[in-house]
Amino acid sequence: MKQQNISILGATGSIGTSTLDVISLNRDKFRVFAITANSQIDKLFLQCIEFNPYYAVVANESDANRLHDMLRTKEVDTEVLYGAESLAYVASHQNVDMVMAAIVGAAGLLPTLDAARAGKKILLANKETLVVAGDLFMRTVRQSGASVLPVDSEHNAIFQSLPEKVRLAMANGKWKTEDYQSSGISSIILTASGGPFLDTDIDIFANITPQMALKHPNWSMGRKISIDSATMMNKGLEVIEACHLFNIPADLIEVVIHPQSIIHSMVRYIDGSVLAQMGTPNMCTPIAYCLGLPERIDAGVEALDFFTTDALCFRAPDIERFPCLQLAFEALRLGKDAPCILNAANEIAVANFLDDKIRFTDIARVIEKTMSLCPLNDDIFSIEQLLQKDTIARDMAQQIITDMIKNDE
Ligand code: NAD
Ligand code: MG
Repeated sequence: MKQQNISILGATGSIGTSTLDVISLNRDKFRVFAITANSQIDKLFLQCIEFNPYYAVVANESDANRLHDMLRTKEVDTEVLYGAESLAYVASHQNVDMVMAAIVGAAGLLPTLDAARAGKKILLANKETLVVAGDLFMRTVRQSGASVLPVDSEHNAIFQSLPEKVRLAMANGKWKTEDYQSSGISSIILTASGGPFLDTDIDIFANITPQMALKHPNWSMGRKISIDSATMMNKGLEVIEACHLFNIPADLIEVVIHPQSIIHSMVRYIDGSVLAQMGTPNMCTPIAYCLGLPERIDAGVEALDFFTTDALCFRAPDIERFPCLQLAFEALRLGKDAPCILNAANEIAVANFLDDKIRFTDIARVIEKTMSLCPLNDDIFSIEQLLQKDTIARDMAQQIITDMIKNDE
């Protein structure tokens, strides 16, 4: 395999760091072209020293100057850039073979879209891209000849469990809904751990603190996705992600609670077979799968030990306990730009919960209210329209929270 140039968007985050961990085990195969970060300049600095990328991109000029000065004292000649245009530059540069899209939230949308327009191989962790702009993004992938490989562990597991011809067509956005039947696929099954509050008494949900919610039983992840897992909005976002990625209607997607997170998701076939992908819960596995395809490469992940693994259990999701999951299904049913509104309201609600401004149970209330107040656009022609709706929904959600806090006083 020729050495591949990779840009890592969101290199300082949980997925970004795991990506660099896998690359460090496979340096002959990958060359880090660019890394980007929002605010963790010290961490980005250490990554520049270790991987010597051509470019490092940060959010603003003062951080760029600081990082530049720090790097020169170490005689590292990484060029430091800043701002949205620079993110686009490293996501679409002609020398880049693949882009790891690992910025959190809707902030990751534009550079991921830039990578798609430039026809890159996109390793997609940023599920919000598909939630906010799924149709537009997948259309761009189809038109530009880009390909999308799912990093999200569930979608990666499904990808691995699909027939090869489906995998190829899917990655290029060329898979059609009708093709499921002819390939003998009857449904895809997303597994969910259920998060830290699967069995918590529902009466104490209102008293759940950010510290409690950030402690996921199986996965170590960034703060926002950890809260999404605790509310199960993460599974809701993943259902929307799956609809776009696999071009599959929502009624062919099953959600199954599997608290041990050993099976990462499954595909059900018409002959009664269910193919699953299993492993120790560690994001380095799906990352290594996407990086190495069509080869398998070392991910540095502990082998699954069947003799110390708990019994594997399965149960149905409890929508009353996790209303966010229901809200995501509702956004899918409404279609149009409802998923964009859902995502924006969720990002604002989660940020306020993490800041101790609202209760855990208020997250779903804020999203529901925003969805009921924010009008839907019938036709979505452009990314600008979606970004405008994202801003409107964020402002609305913030106002709902301000009113909520006032009424509580
Ligand atoms: P994180 O919070 O750990 O890291 C986020 C990264 O994005 C950081 O490098 C940060 O600097 C950057 N960033 C944040 N805001 C930015 C902005 N406004 N502009 C530019 N860069 C910005 O997040 P994470 O857990 O690594 O998740 C990243 C994405 O991957 C999310 O979309 C998440 O849903 C998805 N994902 C994560 C996991 C996981 O295990 N962590 C699993 C599946 C999917
Ligand atoms: Mg996931």
